Amino acid sequence: MANHVGDRAVVLGASMAGLMAARVLAESYAEVVVVDRDDLSEVSGTPRKSVRQGGHAHALLARGLQVLEDLYPGLTLELEALGMPIGDLGNNIRWYFNGRQIRQVDTGLVIVSLVRPLLEGQVRVRTAALSGVTMMDRTDILGLATTPDRGRVTGVTVRRQSDGVDELLPADLVVDTTGRGSRTAAWLEELGYQRAPEEKVKIGLTYTTQHYRLSENVLGDDLASIPVATPGHPRGAVFSRACGRYQLSLTGILGDQPPTDPEGFLRYARSLPVPDIYEWVRDAEPIDEPAAIRYPASVRRHYEKLTAFPDGLLVMGDGATSFNPVYAQGMTVAALEALELRDHLRRGSAPPFRRFFADIARVIDGPWEIAATSDLSHPGVAGKRTPKIKFINGYLARLHAAASNDPHLSNAFLRVAGLIDAPPTLMKPATLLRVLRAGKPPAQPVPPRTIDSASSSTA
Ligand SMILES: Cc1cc2nc3c(=O)[nH]c(=O)nc-3n(C[C@H](O)[C@H](O)[C@H](O)COP(=O)(O)OP(=O)(O)OC[C@H]3O[C@@H](n4cnc5c(N)ncnc54)[C@H](O)[C@@H]3O)c2cc1C
Repeated sequence: MANHVGDRAVVLGASMAGLMAARVLAESYAEVVVVDRDDLSEVSGTPRKSVRQGGHAHALLARGLQVLEDLYPGLTLELEALGMPIGDLGNNIRWYFNGRQIRQVDTGLVIVSLVRPLLEGQVRVRTAALSGVTMMDRTDILGLATTPDRGRVTGVTVRRQSDGVDELLPADLVVDTTGRGSRTAAWLEELGYQRAPEEKVKIGLTYTTQHYRLSENVLGDDLASIPVATPGHPRGAVFSRACGRYQLSLTGILGDQPPTDPEGFLRYARSLPVPDIYEWVRDAEPIDEPAAIRYPASVRRHYEKLTAFPDGLLVMGDGATSFNPVYAQGMTVAALEALELRDHLRRGSAPPFRRFFADIARVIDGPWEIAATSDLSHPGVAGKRTPKIKFINGYLARLHAAASNDPHLSNAFLRVAGLIDAPPTLMKPATLLRVLRAGKPPAQPVPPRTIDSASSSTA
């Protein structure tokens, strides 16, 4: 062990945030126990019961892959060996905004076309192989154990599904990575603490996804075609290839739901601003039925604003902030939070809650602002549109239009979307001038929903 901080850490939840937390905790705790209710014995391309989002489009942002490669050297090539092709973020993805493709450009940033359960499975294999790490699967997390004064969390009570027996797992540190449904807020209340203030952006998003076999490789060297939802075209899609099959995730917002019946699904695909995707899948061989998942709102829990919190407990991943998934930020932010945890542990002790939550809040701020600002470009999304938000959204619309002819702008935008560069870099004089010189974008087209409202239902 690189640097001893404690005897045992318990991680609640063995999805991406939990696995990366366990990876860094293993450098500082003699034992790391990762608890999850699902059966984790198999690595497969099929989504787990409790991580249903794994069956839908999942991208790992360029920054996220860099961090994962730092935590698990060689991972990128292992993923490729499992059938997930690698490419360049700008050169091998076709990005569309308002029906116009931005110029493909060599960004030098590697991306992997993922099958999410396989990514998680490989990260799990690598984590479980670390000295001191134990995976405790098919085990339900029941609650926290504390000192009599409730000032410190001392462990977790769990129930094994195999025999229904309850067990107390003592721990020097408990890390909650149980996702959006995290019960830390409720546990805090039970223990006499305040809940963290919550911020929500109600996007009313639905993903509907189907997988196909195609007789020819319609994407060529490219890995995916992504018409991004914009106010003019609020219906989006991710069409990608990996592991010998094609995946199409259709997205709708504010209650516009891509249907789950095959005909309705195809009609919705036809309403996208980019005709290719419909043409590719209309006669393709479906592997499964379309399946939907709803995502009502992005949720940020501001733990950094609390003045009292029990020692020995941290929250990370979606449990702290769940981002609108269309920006593909969740796993990358969880990876950056794991780096923050590692930095703290390397200083020789478990992080005090105030400093840890303040540090991860700084990690969350940028991606949250990107996602919330873009969501507010859609007129139906509730929220205050400050002059800054209006300016940014107007500027981005111009930048996207100009990027259809200007690879410099594609590169600058993709580096920010990939969480490599901070958003203010888009305002650098060289970039700003190029956007201004390109002039105003053409008028916004009519949203397809008004053309093809028959193909959707409203929540
Ligand atoms: C439709 C959709 C698409 C997405 N696309 C992307 C994307 O493209 N890119 C990206 O980076 N992110 C994406 N995300 C978000 C991403 O999936 C999460 O950020 C990521 O999984 C990290 O979440 P997590 O580990 O914090 O929690 P989760 O993935 O939700 O995992 C929580 C874990 O805790 C376990 N658990 C929960 N409660 C209990 C309990 N009581 N007892 C035992 N175990 C428990 C569950 O079994 C699960 O394993 C998407 C999300 C959705 C909904």
